[in-house]
Amino acid sequence: MKVKQVFSAYDFTNNSSLDDLKYCPRCGEKFIIKEESGKKRPFCSVCEFVHYKNPSPAVSVLVAKNDLVLLGKRAPGSFMEGKWCSPCGFIEFDEDFITAGIRETKEETGLDVSIKSVISVCSNYLSPDLHSLVVVLLGNIIGGKLCPGDDIDALQWFNMAGPLPSMAFSADLHIIERFYKTKIEGLQIDFDFLLDK
Ligand SMILES: [Zn+2]
Repeated sequence: MKVKQVFSAYDFTNNSSLDDLKYCPRCGEKFIIKEESGKKRPFCSVCEFVHYKNPSPAVSVLVAKNDLVLLGKRAPGSFMEGKWCSPCGFIEFDEDFITAGIRETKEETGLDVSIKSVISVCSNYLSPDLHSLVVVLLGNIIGGKLCPGDDIDALQWFNMAGPLPSMAFSADLHIIERFYKTKIEGLQIDFDFLLDK
């Protein structure tokens, strides 16, 4: 099955919105718009701070057992509320992506996982204000007790053959279908490079 790695939830080709940040976060001066590296960007004429708008690095963890996949239902008030997804979230500045995957899975499912491999990397154009770059990891359950938490209010095992519930992110749907059909586990984690072994 084909590897798809770019997903969009809106027509980003016609969207050229500049950031809605109006003031410099470093010195408080009002931003002006200036061209920098080929793009118009908010610029501070006092301290020369340039506000680069970049995708946000995130992780998603496929927790699979035989032909079953563990999904969480997104709680009211969260992005894509009521829809289902794999454990996922943004990488904190002081953590590596593997630690982020382990932490997000624990927070959202109560389960302890070890990270086996990198299944894929995806660009998700979710909204004009939110583009994520998601490292998709394969998790292996090593402990813990199933308990929904954080922005997840229900957990359920689904057969990867389908039908799957209404999914929050089209990337998840593609990844689950592809994993079920190919069983390709991707690139093994090189633990020699972990900061905290
Ligand atoms: Zn400034």
